[in-house]
Amino acid sequence: MLLQKLLNDSYKFAGFRYCEIEFNPKELEIKVHIQSDKRYKPKCGECQKPAPGYDSLKQRTFLFVPLWGYSVKFLYTPRRVACPEHGVVVEYMPWALGKSPVTKAFGIFLAHWAKKLDWKDVANTFRVSWDAVFSAVEYVVDYGLNNRVLTGIKHLGLDEIHFKKMKYVTMIYDITEGQKRLLWLGLERKAKTLLRGFRKLGLQNLTGVVAVSMDMWQAYVKVVTKKLPDAKIILDRFHIMKKFNEAIDTVRRQEITALKADGRGEVLHNSRWCFLKKRKNLTERQEQRLQDLVKQNLQTYKSYLLRESFQKFWLYKTSRWAKEFLQGWTYTAMHSRIEPMKKVAKMLRKHEQDILNWFKISPRISNGVVEGFNNKAKTIIRKHYGFRTFSVLELALYHTMGDLPEPKLTHSFV
Ligand SMILES: [Zn+2]
Repeated sequence: MLLQKLLNDSYKFAGFRYCEIEFNPKELEIKVHIQSDKRYKPKCGECQKPAPGYDSLKQRTFLFVPLWGYSVKFLYTPRRVACPEHGVVVEYMPWALGKSPVTKAFGIFLAHWAKKLDWKDVANTFRVSWDAVFSAVEYVVDYGLNNRVLTGIKHLGLDEIHFKKMKYVTMIYDITEGQKRLLWLGLERKAKTLLRGFRKLGLQNLTGVVAVSMDMWQAYVKVVTKKLPDAKIILDRFHIMKKFNEAIDTVRRQEITALKADGRGEVLHNSRWCFLKKRKNLTERQEQRLQDLVKQNLQTYKSYLLRESFQKFWLYKTSRWAKEFLQGWTYTAMHSRIEPMKKVAKMLRKHEQDILNWFKISPRISNGVVEGFNNKAKTIIRKHYGFRTFSVLELALYHTMGDLPEPKLTHSFV
């Protein structure tokens, strides 16, 4: 039969052969029986060394990649072997994914789709359980983490994202040009969290790091200074602009309260996005709204202008000019009489060196990388709002953002 030939050509294993094939159009199902080849000894499931057979277990079903809308099932009766080293264990079945009901080929196929779709959708589309999708992704990610190359890491990005109420996840990114990826993530944002990440990646793999883009979170600063003494700390644009936005939000909220007390509460109603978005991204209506707000001579608008004028900072070519601009800007902000903006100015002054470091690194680190990763991670968290545990989130993030090598089969089914 043609299917047998296809399988022998694309998914063949020494020691086993495809024999009888049952075609069941009513159930939309094809059953493929696998038999062991008596010329070979079975192998131990632990060490994959040949071992004497012991007994046989019950027949097991393994799902293979569906064909023409038919589900394809492999049927095989596993043997147990008596391994001199591991005792009586189930034999090694090269197509099997541990205890999972799917074959490796189907697992790689499912994992491929799980990168693009919600896992629930993958499960429904290919008529498997959510757990089957989980173990497929787990297999692919485990392989990727064990086989990835951790060399040439020059620039690191650190960030923390929210996960469920009050929980943080520390993210370590490789933001080196040409190999940008998520390297590690872990629950909490303590010094020991970051330390755990560094150790997991291997400190010897981080000796070439020349710069770390990050927030001024003291726990991280401490670890980076101690463990990567040659790396420059860069307080990056994304984290600085975040501080600006938080400040503008505070000004706005305070001003609403003040306006309400004054009987003019509606002035700033629904205006948050006018101030947080970059001007060029405003819709026509938002731009109109902004124009109306300008006329009111509000503190919120003044803060907004201060932020907009700061954007120029990133265009400087040398740290000398950038420094001059920074000093001028902070002077203006300190005299704005707007407390949250003064706070930003103080922060910028305090960390002047770390901010100017960005201009001193060659080649310069592209500013949007950490922000891009942050947005992507947030989208994934939102999409999988059903994350039951951190380990599921962990898997999904490595899978989509880790740029991991994938297990290779002789034939690609995706
Ligand atoms: Zn063994």
